[in-house]
Parts: sequence; structure tokens; C-alpha cells
Amino acid sequence: MSKIREDEIHDSAVDRTSAEQVYDVCVERVRQDMKWGTQNHSPGRWMLILMEEVGEFSQAVLDAQVKGADPAEIRKELVQVVAVALSMLENCDRADWSKP
Ligand SMILES: [Mg+2]
Repeated sequence: MSKIREDEIHDSAVDRTSAEQVYDVCVERVRQDMKWGTQNHSPGRWMLILMEEVGEFSQAVLDAQVKGADPAEIRKELVQVVAVALSMLENCDRADWSKP
């Protein structure tokens, strides 16, 4: 894969459309760290944590569609899914899970 230059990022659709989403994920990451501290888990433990968050997202979708619950919960839960995945990536790089 070729390396992406900084000016290519600034000119991309990602830069124009994702700033709000990236900011919201960062805010959620800070909230998670303030609540739990830096988290170091095995890949298997992280998988369970991520699946729990995906389950909460699924519940929010079903509640909104079936029970008429607040659809804003869908986005909130989705931000949490992405933030947990980011925390997993941070742990992966700290612990270098790529090593055998
Ligand atoms: Mg959640």
C-alpha cells in the first residue's frame, strides 16, 4: 500500500466529512479512559468487550425500530463501538500483538 501524504488527507472526502465523527470518537475515548483508565487486555478479552458494545448498538437499533425509542441512542452506541475498537488498536500497538 502506498503511503498517503498529508495534503492528500486534507483534500479528501474523509477530511471534509469525518471531522465531527472523529471528534466524537475521541471524546468517547477520553471518557472511557477517565472511567476505566488505560486498558490492557488480551485479544480474546477485547473481543468480548467489543461484542458487548455491538450488542448494545443492536439493542438500540431494535428499540428505535420496534419500540419507538430515541434513535439518538443508535449513534451514541455506534460511537462507543468505534471508540472501543480504537482502544483495542491502541492496546494492540502497545503490546505488539503482531508478534508471535
Ligand atoms: Mg455501549
